[in-house]
Amino acid sequence: MGVLPAVAGYNVCHISLVYGCHIVVILSGYLLAHPTHNEVHIMKKHALLFSAIATVALFSSAAFAAKSANVCQAKTYEMGLRYQQQSAEIAALQLQTYHFAQQRLAEILRHKKDHHKLAVVMDLDETILDNTALLVRDMQNCHDYTHWDTWSDWEVKGHPRLIPGAKAFIEYANRRGVNIFYVSDRYKKNKKYTMHTLKELGLPQVKDDHVLLYSTSKQQRREHIRKHYHIIMLMGDSLPDLSAIFKNKKGTHYNRELVEKNRKHFGRDWIVLPNAAYGAWTKAKLRAWHEQ
Ligand SMILES: [Mg+2]
Repeated sequence: MGVLPAVAGYNVCHISLVYGCHIVVILSGYLLAHPTHNEVHIMKKHALLFSAIATVALFSSAAFAAKSANVCQAKTYEMGLRYQQQSAEIAALQLQTYHFAQQRLAEILRHKKDHHKLAVVMDLDETILDNTALLVRDMQNCHDYTHWDTWSDWEVKGHPRLIPGAKAFIEYANRRGVNIFYVSDRYKKNKKYTMHTLKELGLPQVKDDHVLLYSTSKQQRREHIRKHYHIIMLMGDSLPDLSAIFKNKKGTHYNRELVEKNRKHFGRDWIVLPNAAYGAWTKAKLRAWHEQ
């Protein structure tokens, strides 16, 4: 339901309530001025009827008001989703990031003789896969997608699109003999569907031991990879895709300080993709300019 129909519904109920009360008042006024025995009976009967109408209208009106509050909350995601899904700028940023990552990978590989123990670790959602179609559908249904209760169904039946530049980068790493690990917190129970999605999109190295979904923490999965491979690059839209130091609940201010302390990694072995649709930052307080 959109905001306008919700407001219209609220108004209808409000009008019903006011109209019902007016009838009760007018009728009561007339009958009180001319009180015969029969009319007193009619007055009681109609007063009860209109009280009932007014009560129903009152509750309906409250229900509409509550529902429209929910509508507004889900709609607050719209601007971020519009940027993430539709802006030309996001496509340019994604291409730019992957072009840069490829240049950086080529530079790293120039100094490595043997590539078969080298690994690139990549997150999936909003790094390789664009899932915004699900998020837009949920938002349009006034459903808060950050509850993630529609996500599993999407993993099974959805058709995410590729993030611009992702496939070309992964194919390049594959051609250069680098191992690609897809490390994601998608459901392990849906692994066959996620692997099918990746294969359908034509991505290389989609093998059981190269697709590591949610079981242990991402850090533990990275440590597992490090037992046999040297990770030369990590890519993700969320900072915990890069290091466990960002897996905390200390807020954006703390994590921005961590980013500053670890600045040497960014653009070297840590590559970040933009995601305006969701993330740990969504509840952060905004800072305003207060003119003196
Ligand atoms: Mg992601």
